[in-house]
Amino acid sequence: MSKRILLFLVDGMRPDGMQQAETPIIDGLMATGAWTLTARTVMPSITLPCIVSLFQSRTPQQHGVTSNTFIADAIKPGLIEVLAAAGRTVATFHNWEQLRDLSRPGALRASLYLNNCHDPDGAGDTALTVATIESLRRDPVDLAFIYLGYTDVAGHDHSWMSAPYVAAIENADRCIGLALSALGSDYGIVITADHGGHDHSHGTDTDEDMRVPLVIHGHPRLTQGQMLPDPVSIIDVAPTILDWMEIAPPDHWVGRAIEGAR
Ligand SMILES: [Zn+2]
Repeated sequence: MSKRILLFLVDGMRPDGMQQAETPIIDGLMATGAWTLTARTVMPSITLPCIVSLFQSRTPQQHGVTSNTFIADAIKPGLIEVLAAAGRTVATFHNWEQLRDLSRPGALRASLYLNNCHDPDGAGDTALTVATIESLRRDPVDLAFIYLGYTDVAGHDHSWMSAPYVAAIENADRCIGLALSALGSDYGIVITADHGGHDHSHGTDTDEDMRVPLVIHGHPRLTQGQMLPDPVSIIDVAPTILDWMEIAPPDHWVGRAIEGAR
């Protein structure tokens, strides 16, 4: 049976930052879901290439977006287009404008961009979450992508693992909690990040930049505090969501649906 899914991406959230932060909502989802703190993103470990890889299930070298500059030709049928072709509805909510180009025209039910990821103390992430809840209550969709950008801003401004960065993760956890309590058990949950970071930046192939968390909650075959076996890649997220919805992936995707421990 397919379920509605909320896909949260917390920009620049390192797994060890998540562990250092007080994240009661994510902790609760890990306790009853499946998770890994050693998933890998793709090179270069910067936002647009990594998020395009998540949706396209291909590496930046394969899709061609290797910087934060969008290339229209890169978008082949990815997660959003495949779901739309299967009659499922998708909406995206984000506060970084480059993400307006994750799908081709004609595939989205709704999309909201707020220019607020730099608002102090994560207030923009919270405002985006409130607007997302309002939209999804009015018009539920099969997949909602919710991108929270302030964590990355705090990392660049104050450095990764600094107190303001950890506080930004705590705010993201509260945002996820707001969405879950408003939208409830109608949704399966996926939480991940596009990349990590170190000092005031990211983009290298070091573990600090490449390691991302992945939490999957509500998947019928991945449950009950299960730690996912390595290796898990960000390009596996889209095939896993399709598998969950019982839709076959396109042949050109290179990721695979994540399976639990055996
Ligand atoms: Zn960044």
